[in-house]
Amino acid sequence: MSFLSHLECARCGEVHAADRVQGLCTKCGGPLLARYDLEALGKSVKKSDLAGRPTNLWRYREFLPVTNDENVITLGEGMTPLLPARRLGREIGCDDLYIKDEGLNPTGSFKARGAAVGISMCKELGIKAIAMPTAGNAGGAWASYARRAGIEAHIAMPKDAPTMAMKECLATGAHVYLVDGLISDAGRLIGAAAKHFGWFDAATLKEPYRIEGKKTMGLELAEQFDWELPDVVVYPTGGGVGLIGMMKAFAELEAIGWIGAKRPRMVSVQAAGCAPIVRAFEAGKDESEFFQNAETIAGGLRVPKALGDFLVLRYVRETNGAAVSVTDDEIRAALRLTGATEGMFVSPEGAAAIAAVAKMRRQGTIAAGERVVIYNTGTGLKYPETVDVDLPVYPVDDPEILVRSQS
Ligand SMILES: *Cc1c(COP(=O)(O)O)cnc(C)c1O
Ligand SMILES: [Zn+2]
Repeated sequence: MSFLSHLECARCGEVHAADRVQGLCTKCGGPLLARYDLEALGKSVKKSDLAGRPTNLWRYREFLPVTNDENVITLGEGMTPLLPARRLGREIGCDDLYIKDEGLNPTGSFKARGAAVGISMCKELGIKAIAMPTAGNAGGAWASYARRAGIEAHIAMPKDAPTMAMKECLATGAHVYLVDGLISDAGRLIGAAAKHFGWFDAATLKEPYRIEGKKTMGLELAEQFDWELPDVVVYPTGGGVGLIGMMKAFAELEAIGWIGAKRPRMVSVQAAGCAPIVRAFEAGKDESEFFQNAETIAGGLRVPKALGDFLVLRYVRETNGAAVSVTDDEIRAALRLTGATEGMFVSPEGAAAIAAVAKMRRQGTIAAGERVVIYNTGTGLKYPETVDVDLPVYPVDDPEILVRSQS
């Protein structure tokens, strides 16, 4: 049971069949998006049907492309908490602030959503081996879900990607290739290898179904707010798939009459050291240019040129949103502030989004009373290097020293 009808090029509109393995548009090289028979979908499910369903992203079964339930590969991804952040909000001047905590996903980031649906579709289409470049988290997620599906995974990443992602890939039996370069260099290498060996190239947006998993972030947001979208959504952007996916979710929900025409202002956040989309936004361009010497502690944002940049820019403008960059120092400060106020150890990417909201409050581009949702896209536990441990060791037999050190 699936309402998937076909794939459509996001750039030129060319229709492609959905019953076979597809990559980029065969006509123009643009990314393909899954299209559904929304009329039939809308008739088959009611909002109230969701109540008794599993608390993972497969509760939105009708909105997903997998036909045969036996091909569903899950580790329990999705339905992450939407947490009010009152104490953090007070610090940065937001009265109605929420954090959607994607760090609770399997593999510690929202990449699990894309991998769950992407790998389920690989299984359904009979793919035996996948290959992809990653900044870190996507590799860990795809390696995990691939292994669970019995599919071979070949993952290439920068040699300075977070070590936890490398360990995750190795622990789950992937073939890991480190490169002396960026994710774009890893992509060139693994793309060529995939062609040579006949592996399926599952790179961001070259593969049409990862975005279907990520769009569930938008479905959940709507359901968790009782089908009333917030005023502002702030999303840390690398490839931009999460933001594009959420907009796709909102469009599908509107098409079946579950929400109205109101959209949140979509804010795309990047790191100052790698901000191709922010640059293009500020220059009034429809597409970004390759960002030279990309460097930031927020590894998931180190994507110097995204295939879906034109869609991110379109959606940000269409919703009257913004593209905002923050420095690594601002990211570190936001990470500490969120830990100190909310007890949440967020990823540097999530911290970037938090820093951006603080900045937009200072600039007045977000008002104090607006309902703002920040996506913390991963758990801080995957980035142990963001916190320095420089502590004395105490002699156990002399509590006096401890007492004196407090005063
Ligand atoms: C991949 C990643 C991002 C960027 O996500 P896109 O959807 O590719 O823009 C943000 N945060 C974390 C933690 C990530 O792993
Ligand atoms: Zn096309």
